[in-house]
Amino acid sequence: MGADRDLWTIRRILAWTEGYFEEKEIDSPRLTAEILLSHALSIKRLDLYLQHDRPLNRDELAAFRQLIERRGDREPVAYITGTKGFWESEFTVAPGVLIPRPDTEVLVEQALEFLARKNISMGRVLELGVGSGAVIISIAKANPGLYCFATDISLIPLEVAAFNVKQELELPNLSFVAGSWFSPFNGRAKFDLIVSNPPYIPTGDIQGLQPEVSRFEPSLALDGGEDGLDCIRLIMAKACDHLVPGGVLLMETGSGQRRGVEKIFKECPGFSTVEFFNDYAGLHRVVRLGKKDC
Ligand code: GLN
Repeated sequence: MGADRDLWTIRRILAWTEGYFEEKEIDSPRLTAEILLSHALSIKRLDLYLQHDRPLNRDELAAFRQLIERRGDREPVAYITGTKGFWESEFTVAPGVLIPRPDTEVLVEQALEFLARKNISMGRVLELGVGSGAVIISIAKANPGLYCFATDISLIPLEVAAFNVKQELELPNLSFVAGSWFSPFNGRAKFDLIVSNPPYIPTGDIQGLQPEVSRFEPSLALDGGEDGLDCIRLIMAKACDHLVPGGVLLMETGSGQRRGVEKIFKECPGFSTVEFFNDYAGLHRVVRLGKKDC
C-alpha cells in the first residue's frame, strides 16, 4: 500500500488542479477545480471541505481527469456540468444552446419591471430565440398568470428549453414554437411584451472572442452579420406588427451598438420611445423600445 502522501485526497487533487488551470490560464482556477470535482463526485462544493482528507478511488480519478482535460481544452464549465445558474434558477444547458450570461439578467429585470409597472399580470409575452429558456422561464415563474410564448429556429434549444420547463411544476401557460423570429405568428396575435437576446456579434469579431465562446457556443446564437445588427434590424422592423399599442420590445444588444440601434429606431415609425439600460459592468446592454399608445 502506498504511503498516505501518495493518496489523491480531495485536498491534494484540488491543489494540483488549481495549479494546472493556472498554468493553462483558465479563469478562476480554484473555483473551477471545485465545481468540476464536486460534479465528478456528485457532492456539494461545501462537502469538498468537509471531506478534504477523503481519497479518490481509481474510477473517480479517471472521471475527474476527463473533466480536467475538457476544461483545459477550453470547453465552458457549463457544458461540462450541464447546468448554469441564472436569475433564480438552475438551468440545464447543452452544446447547441447559448449559455445564459449574468448580463442577460438585465433583460429579465427590465421585463419584470415593465410588467409590474403596467400591472400586466395576465398579458401575453413572446421571446424570440429561446436558447435554454432561461429568460422566458424566469419571466413566467415570476408571473404565473401570463401567457408566454417562445420561438427558436433551431430544434436543440427548443428541446433543452422544454426540458427546463419540465423542471418547474407550475408553468402551464408557456409554449414553444419552432420557427424563425416572428414567422410562426401571423400578426393577429398581439403581445404586451416581446423580449429577445438575438445574435449581435459582428461576424468578423467572432474568432476574436474567448475560445470558450468562439469554439464551443453555437454561432447561430452569436453571429449578427457584418455589423452585428442584422437580427436586431429585422426584429425592430417587424415587432410593432406584433405588439399591442403601448407594448414594449426589450432586446439585449452589444455594448457598442447604441448609435446603430438609435439609427434603426429612427427608421421604425411604429416605435415612439427608445431607452438603454446598463449591465453590471456599466455598459449599454438592453434596449427598450415602446410602441405608440394608439
Ligand atoms: N453576450 C454574448 C457574448 O458576449 C453574445 C450573446 C449574443 O450574441 N446574443 O458572447
